[in-house]
Amino acid sequence: MRCPYCRHPDSRVVDSREADDGQLIRRRRSCPECGKRFTTVEEAVLAVVKRSGVTEPFSRTKIIGGVRKACQGRPVDEDSIALLAQKVEETVRAKGAAEIPSHDVGLAILGPLRDLDEVAYLRFASVYRSFDSLADFEQEIETLRAAARAREGAGVDDAATAAGRTH
Ligand SMILES: [Zn+2]
Repeated sequence: MRCPYCRHPDSRVVDSREADDGQLIRRRRSCPECGKRFTTVEEAVLAVVKRSGVTEPFSRTKIIGGVRKACQGRPVDEDSIALLAQKVEETVRAKGAAEIPSHDVGLAILGPLRDLDEVAYLRFASVYRSFDSLADFEQEIETLRAAARAREGAGVDDAATAAGRTH
């Protein structure tokens, strides 16, 4: 690995350690030319398989772009979008597969986006699930309303918890 300080074409690994439960390896490197130290991170490339069969590396930037588009004009800040993209990456990487269908990436976006902004969620879901009639929107809105009612009724933030109550 080339030294980022003096551009010397070689460097020496002085320390390697696993991070993120073994998902990453951080290497501390030392330049034999200028003596400076720097860190590199190694992780497995996560491939996203598109419907056409074409694969491309998972990109958090792409997630951010798609979600930002859905959030246009909504009171959602950039930090929340970045955090959502981070959550999505954690979700898809946690599956432990080397390849993941793009469909599953979309699915991982829907949950956290619904919590972030319901209008943005509807926009994203309408594209992702190919809504083609008003009835599709109506059904999705009804689901959102039911979840909101469950939240209010139970007085908790977690709709899933509320829905799971037996009395
Ligand atoms: Zn150097």
